[in-house]
Amino acid sequence: MQGRDKAPIFLIMETRKTTTMLAKTKQPSARRSSMRDEDSLYAAVVARDKSMDGTFVYSVATTGVYCRPSCPSRHARRENMAFHASGAAAQAAGFRACKRCKPDAPSLEAEHARLVANACRLIEEAEEPPTLDALAADVGLSPYHFHRVFKSITGVTPKAYAIAHRQKRVRDNLKRSTSVTEAIHDAGFNSSGRFYANAGEVLGMTPTTFRAGGKDMQLRFAIGKSSLGAVLVAASSKGIAAILLGDDPEKLVHDLEVRFPKSELIGSDREFEEVVARTIALIEAPGARFDLPLDVRGTAFQHRVWQALREIPAGTTVSYAELAERIGLPKAIRAVAAACAANRLAVAIPCHRVVRNDGALSGYRWGVERKRKLLAREARS
Ligand SMILES: [Zn+2]
Repeated sequence: MQGRDKAPIFLIMETRKTTTMLAKTKQPSARRSSMRDEDSLYAAVVARDKSMDGTFVYSVATTGVYCRPSCPSRHARRENMAFHASGAAAQAAGFRACKRCKPDAPSLEAEHARLVANACRLIEEAEEPPTLDALAADVGLSPYHFHRVFKSITGVTPKAYAIAHRQKRVRDNLKRSTSVTEAIHDAGFNSSGRFYANAGEVLGMTPTTFRAGGKDMQLRFAIGKSSLGAVLVAASSKGIAAILLGDDPEKLVHDLEVRFPKSELIGSDREFEEVVARTIALIEAPGARFDLPLDVRGTAFQHRVWQALREIPAGTTVSYAELAERIGLPKAIRAVAAACAANRLAVAIPCHRVVRNDGALSGYRWGVERKRKLLAREARS
């Protein structure tokens, strides 16, 4: 049961530890039975079985030392060996610890877990993400070895860990801070230029527009007519930001204003007609490929849900529960349904392919009748 008293470093590691602990819970009973059976202890010593380290030690009468089962030293003769439940028991019997295998030091695995925990803390507390060399030097391993140990325990590289940690800080700070500059500073980015370079990935928008709910963003838009009624298409410089369906063009414009309250809405030019035409073509044939760039804005969670929606093949449907399962959060069914409802890109992000558990159509942001028609079109193609 060693290791249970150590606080988990973070989630990924906690999972790993659970596995380790499951393996370890078997050991006390294995030890009890093997203490009755010295042959199996002897076999562990002969095999230099690392997994038995920490469960017993053996002493050698001729040298007066005791070792962990995996000690790399040449083995003594069986008749000179004795087995002890712990280093303390071996010491009480008059033996001293082997200098080579250090039987009373923590096992390598536990030691590595401790080093990685320290490294994680260094990364979290540093103003600037520490370099691999600096982290390795701090925990006393070579950079190559440290990188391998870190990844084997956490599942990610030190750099990926630092980036993930920093992105979380940026998001948290943006919600709290009064100014973007403050958020940048709080998250430990000393150069705004680099923050902006990163923020595109983190937020899908530059920090200023994120805070202001899309302020200063220009959206070109146009309304076309499809067999499913009016279609409003709006695009930023990055791609299509909204595809809205409805009966009344005026209501669609109002809907756009509500969804992008701080953006500057610009009536479209001729060039934009091509984009509208291709969007209408998608609505007429919803299973077809649509390769215009999308400017998808939402939280990280919404992005996951929307990405999963885009992976549902045309002509098939899934339930909200299945979708939640697919993004690895089977309990988040309500949140998944909310993310589907928040979709601003009708058909391009095919939220119409999500149905109720019993196969019933359930609701659709743009009307159940349109959903029925879209699914029927996909089934036919
Ligand atoms: Zn030894």
